Amino acid sequence: MSSTIKEALQRASFCLQRAGCGNPVGEAAALLAASLGVTRAWLYAHGEEKPEAAELQHYFAWVARRADGEPYAYLTGEKEFMSLSFLVTPAVLIPRPETELLVETAVRELKGRENLRILDLGTGSGAVAISIAVLLPESEVVAVDISPAALHVATQNAARHGVTNRVRFLAGDLYAPVCGERFDAIVSNPPYISSTDIETLERDVKDFEPRLALSGGPDGLNFYRRLTAELALLAAPPALLLFEVGYRQSEAVAALCYAAGYKNISQLNDLAGIPRIILAKPAGTA
Ligand code: GLN
Repeated sequence: MSSTIKEALQRASFCLQRAGCGNPVGEAAALLAASLGVTRAWLYAHGEEKPEAAELQHYFAWVARRADGEPYAYLTGEKEFMSLSFLVTPAVLIPRPETELLVETAVRELKGRENLRILDLGTGSGAVAISIAVLLPESEVVAVDISPAALHVATQNAARHGVTNRVRFLAGDLYAPVCGERFDAIVSNPPYISSTDIETLERDVKDFEPRLALSGGPDGLNFYRRLTAELALLAAPPALLLFEVGYRQSEAVAALCYAAGYKNISQLNDLAGIPRIILAKPAGTA
């Protein structure tokens, strides 16, 4: 196989377009840049150069997988979140931009407090726990996930961002590994897709991302029920609960927090104007 960068890009764009990709030219260029370890600007300035056969082979293997629906981030193994680069594999959900609001809200609420202990339930890639640890240098974060494969990824991400000594990863089912412990805040982006909605998701998500990280039971609310009902497993109720929620779930999740004794509740909208974060505090707190 011998072709110039320009020819390779044309061929890949065609392939991605035929597969129904929304941005074939952009993705073809981004994949080639990532594959060769150069910038996209470099590609356009060197259109007549011929990459090595092995480089082209690697590139077209990625293009074929992308055309087959595999998410971009699983090919490159990287996803940016809160301006930090995270390792991602098919063992973890790819961090979403709207989840940055969960981290931003946690940081805004907790900044300046000392000896903070934060619990992240269902940490996945560790993106939420690690960004919080980076942005709140006084904090200690405990991050739980039921998937050892996900924790393997998260541990590497903590090392990558230099917070290994402040983020403790524990394998287990929600509160089980931290029974009797005390925390100032709980953050969670649990699996919240309902059984009916899961089949209607984009192919990239439905066929490639871990079901374990997506499926929230018949109405998608299973984990919020457990997150609120099982708070009694901790030594004391934390002063702050912060949950990401799915489309049209905010009222139901707010009601669950209220029933658990958190009478001061706010809902925050994401950039699309959809209620995305529930922030809950016990009565009588500001
Ligand atoms: N936001 C993800 C999606 O819509 C779902 C994440 C989750 O279940 N927590 O694909």
